[in-house]
Amino acid sequence: MVNRPVWEELTKEMTAAGATLVAVSKTKPSSDIQELYDLGQRHFGENYVQELVAKHEELPKDIIWHYIGHLQSNKVKYLAPFVHMIHAVDSFRLLEEINKQAAKHNRTIDVLLQMYLAEEETKFGMDEKEILSLLDYYTAQRPQLQNIRICGLMGMASNTDNEQQISDEFRRLCNFFTHLADTTFFNQPHFAVKSIGMSSDYKLALAQGGNMVRIGSMLFGSRNYS
Ligand SMILES: *Cc1c(COP(=O)(O)O)cnc(C)c1O
Repeated sequence: MVNRPVWEELTKEMTAAGATLVAVSKTKPSSDIQELYDLGQRHFGENYVQELVAKHEELPKDIIWHYIGHLQSNKVKYLAPFVHMIHAVDSFRLLEEINKQAAKHNRTIDVLLQMYLAEEETKFGMDEKEILSLLDYYTAQRPQLQNIRICGLMGMASNTDNEQQISDEFRRLCNFFTHLADTTFFNQPHFAVKSIGMSSDYKLALAQGGNMVRIGSMLFGSRNYS
């Protein structure tokens, strides 16, 4: 069961903000995805490789799939034939593997670099310095990396009720994005995505300049596991 009025309201908000809504359907049945698809939703996000592969097989082929979870290099090959965007790249090795697997299918896969924002220890991602060092490798090897496009940054804010803190964390990502757009990605319009904001904090993310939100529980109800 999906919450249709919420989807309609979110869709209006995203249009007004010029943002993309990624419906996070992890753990939810394909019938829920089909229901949103029939309303017009096309971008869906998943966190588990096997689950995404199975859903891709049974659902309409024009769904734009986002892999938003932590991805192990040895699993890239399962997603490479069809995934549109991989959100949580946090190592050069993973970037190289995505390029390699995408090349096998004659595809270009869009990726985001995951920036570490939260104070919790458990979240994956890179800080500014680590991203810059990854980009040094990337710039040096760019001629060999024709099958990926780095399209922006992804981040998750701290799990807190402190809205000021969440906004500060999102602002940090947006400021760093602007810096990269002015330097490494100068004049490269595909570097355009700030994937921040989930059900609990997407309004704060949009207010800070986010233009891609990943929303699950608001649309599909709460999950038994995440
Ligand atoms: C599950 C998940 C979301 C969606 O979270 P909700 O709180 O259900 O909206 C967004 N981003 C990532 C990376 C997730 O794992």
